[in-house]
Amino acid sequence: MRKYVDLHVHTYHSDSSLSPREVVDIAHKKGFAAVAITDHDCVDGIPSAMEHAEKLGIEIIPGVELSAEDGDFEVHVVGYFIDYKSEWFIRKLNEIRQKRVDRIYEMAEKLKKVGIIVDPDKVMELSGRGSVGRLHMAQVIYNEGYTSSIVEVFHKYIGNNSPCYVKKYKLSPQESIDIILKAGGVPVLAHPHVLGKDELIPELIKKGLRGIEVYHSEHPNNITLHYEDVALENNLLMTGGSDCHGTGKGNIFLGRVKVPYKVVEDLKAEAARIKQAKKNKA
Ligand code: AMP
Ligand code: FE
Ligand code: FE
Ligand code: ZN
Repeated sequence: MRKYVDLHVHTYHSDSSLSPREVVDIAHKKGFAAVAITDHDCVDGIPSAMEHAEKLGIEIIPGVELSAEDGDFEVHVVGYFIDYKSEWFIRKLNEIRQKRVDRIYEMAEKLKKVGIIVDPDKVMELSGRGSVGRLHMAQVIYNEGYTSSIVEVFHKYIGNNSPCYVKKYKLSPQESIDIILKAGGVPVLAHPHVLGKDELIPELIKKGLRGIEVYHSEHPNNITLHYEDVALENNLLMTGGSDCHGTGKGNIFLGRVKVPYKVVEDLKAEAARIKQAKKNKA
């Protein structure tokens, strides 16, 4: 039987409604051989997912999703097989997450000016553990009845080009790739359609990028075909995942995107090369 993997899934340690155990249960029920946990700036969901997955005989790929900025462009980089126990790495993620908290307070100030009153502490409370972000802010604004959907909150207020948008910490693409490499992980460009600037891809490769997320829930067919070509031309690993956020973005669609298990083997081999190169340098 063919084995499949969903390589992009969030938990409630970032902005999904699902616990790591729930993610594992759903992946198991859908017949996946493996699933990657890729929370924003957080690796806290990985141990409990692994513990539960072991009982069910499915594999967890430890991952993380970092967001960087290049001018006005948002570059999300996923790291696979990162050393999620590394003290240095955990400290670095803590630092990045603290800046996310500051940003929620800044966003609340901007929202106040357009008549949206949000208590930042409410956003923190809803976010619970791990990293807080715009999806939590959007949920609170929507719950208070200011809009008729979450998407509308992004559109009117906190989307990248909307009046109350606040940029995140200033991580450059090079820094995000370096953090992942230093943590022994394989850097992969997430949902390249969100970046929307293919000209940046060759530069990212020079900086150490090894793969590109060709298959993604928000990629229509023509976009997928386009990024397959980009991957082939540039000798990048082709990954894919649902980017499931539980009910945080409407329906739970874990597994809507799946790729053959062979991709996991390729990522493992690449991670081994990265870790070896690190050892040689040390
Ligand atoms: P942050 O990392 O705090 O900037 O928040 C990013 C989160 O907001 C990610 O989960 C995105 O998928 C989500 N997001 C960004 N834009 C939108 C949008 N227009 N509609 C719904 N979710 C969005
Ligand atoms: Fe998210
Ligand atoms: Fe992303
Ligand atoms: Zn994601």
